[in-house]
Amino acid sequence: MSVGNDWKARLAERYADVKASLRPGITLVAVSKLRAPEEIKALYDIGHRDFGENYVQELRAKQPLLPNDIRWHFIGHLQRSNVKHIVPFVHLIHGVDSEPLLDEIEKRAAACGRAIDVLLQARIAREETKHGLPPTQVAVVVRAWKPGRWQHIRLVGLMGMASLTNDREAIAKEFGILADLAAQLKGHAPEPECFSVLSMGMSGDLDLAMDAGSTMVRVGTAIFGERG
Ligand SMILES: *Cc1c(COP(=O)(O)O)cnc(C)c1O
Repeated sequence: MSVGNDWKARLAERYADVKASLRPGITLVAVSKLRAPEEIKALYDIGHRDFGENYVQELRAKQPLLPNDIRWHFIGHLQRSNVKHIVPFVHLIHGVDSEPLLDEIEKRAAACGRAIDVLLQARIAREETKHGLPPTQVAVVVRAWKPGRWQHIRLVGLMGMASLTNDREAIAKEFGILADLAAQLKGHAPEPECFSVLSMGMSGDLDLAMDAGSTMVRVGTAIFGERG
């Protein structure tokens, strides 16, 4: 094999390893932030379709260069002013953390005749810098979900990120908080498919997230290698 294609072989190998570590029924989102379109295309050619991006400008630049049947997940912090740029094509918005943001998604989704799937992001980590709603506020937003208010949005679940720590017990506990919250909210859900998705787990804490009941994991480094 030529040296130029070694990276593709390594990518395929890492991807196969990650796939093999997933429990049945778990959706794998390949986090492609800061990765070149060629890398995304290489994974696409192996058959992968779900990709996660964190930055709107980067996603807008890459999306037209790549196949149309990619399911783009927006997993970063979304500003209201950027909603209009991703609503025409995004598959799932993971990090929704305010009612004004929902109002903006509703407005833009209605304008382009789409229904957008979203996850509410709950703040389960100890770090101050993490985005997301405090768990008690998640319930407040769910109660605000009156019929007709966000007609073009489907609330399909919750997303969370554990603390950046080597303390695996602490991480497991945080994932447990998110799983419990999803279970509680399911009872008051505005629609039946609500809270069927639990997006938690990254390269370093996949196994703990799956133990706690994750249904969707967001994996970058373990597939693509270290980000440069
Ligand atoms: C970058 C990122 C990931 C992937 O992290 P890895 O450690 O590279 O697997 C997952 N979720 C979010 C929200 C991210 O920003």
